[in-house]
Amino acid sequence: VKSTGRNGFAFFNTEINEAQLARRRMEAELRGACERGEMAVHYQPLFEIASDRVVGFEALVRWRWNGEEISPATFIPIAEESGSIIEIGRFVLREACREAAGWPAKLRVAVNISALQIQDGGLPDLVATVLEETGLEAGRLELEVTESLLLANAEAATEVLARIRALGVTISLDDFGTGYSSLATLRMFPFDKIKLDRSFVNDLGRLGEAEAIVMAVLGLGRALDVSVVAEGVETKEQAAMLREAGCSLLQGYLIGRPAPIARFSAEVGRDVTS
Ligand code: C2E
Ligand code: CA
Ligand code: CA
Ligand code: CA
Repeated sequence: VKSTGRNGFAFFNTEINEAQLARRRMEAELRGACERGEMAVHYQPLFEIASDRVVGFEALVRWRWNGEEISPATFIPIAEESGSIIEIGRFVLREACREAAGWPAKLRVAVNISALQIQDGGLPDLVATVLEETGLEAGRLELEVTESLLLANAEAATEVLARIRALGVTISLDDFGTGYSSLATLRMFPFDKIKLDRSFVNDLGRLGEAEAIVMAVLGLGRALDVSVVAEGVETKEQAAMLREAGCSLLQGYLIGRPAPIARFSAEVGRDVTS
C-alpha cells in the first residue's frame, strides 16, 4: 500500500514536470523562431454574401517546430506569457501587409492582435511604419482584438486602438459572445466589425437558442451599424440560415480553410508561389 502510494505520487510529479519542461522548452524555442524562419502566415478567406465574392483574408500564424506544425492555440498563450508575442505579432503584421499590398485593391487583410501588443504601447507607430513600408492603404487593414484584451486595461487599450483607428485602419471585435460582458465591450470602443464566435454558428440548426442568439447579434449589428461576420461556417445549411437571417459576411471551412496564399491565386488574381 505504501509503495503504491509513493509510486502514484512520483508518477503525478513526473507528469507535472514533463508538462512544465515541454512548456519551458517551447518558450525558449519560440524566442527567435521568426528569425529562424519557422513562422509562416496562412490566410483564410472572408466571403461577402451580397457580392458573392471573397473580399479579404484573415492572417493566421503557423509555427513549424521540429517538423511539426504547432497550432497557434497552443503556442500563442505561451508566447504571450514570455513576451515572444511582440516579435511574432510584428512578423505577422509585416508579412500580412506586404502580402496584401500585392492583391487587388478590393481585398482587405485582417491581423489578430494580442493584449501584450496593445500594452507594449508601440503598436500605433508599428502599424504606421508597416503601412508606409509596404505601401498598403490603411483602409485595407483590419486588426482583430478580443474582449479580454480590452478588459485588461480598458482606458489604455481603447486609447491605443483609437490612435490606430485614426490612421484609417479598422478594428474588429473577435470571438464575440464568448466573454463575460460582450455587450459592455461594445460600448467601450466604436468597433467597425463584430465577429460572431463559431460556437454559435456551430449550434445553428441544432439548438434553438443558437438561432435566437445569432438573430439577436445580427439585429445588434444593424442597430449599431456594425457589420457582423459569422465565423466557423462549415455547412451549406448554416450558410443558408445566416443568409436568410441577413448576415453579410461569412468565414469558415465551407468557404475555405486557412492555407498558404498560393492556394488562393484565383482570388488574389495572380500566380503566387511560396
Ligand atoms: P481566431 O482569431 O478566432 O481564428 C479562427 C480560428 O478558427 C482559426 O484557428 C481557424 O483555423 C479556425 N477556423 C476557421 N474556420 C473554421 C471552421 O469552419 N471550423 C472550425 N472548427 N475552425 C475554423 P487557428 O488558425 O488555429 O487559430 C487559433 C487562434 O489563434 C485564433 O483564433 C487567434 O485567436 C490565434 N491566432 C492565430 N494567429 C494569430 C496571430 O498572428 N496573432 C495572435 N495574437 N493570435 C493569433
Ligand atoms: Ca481572429
Ligand atoms: Ca474568432
Ligand atoms: Ca480566438
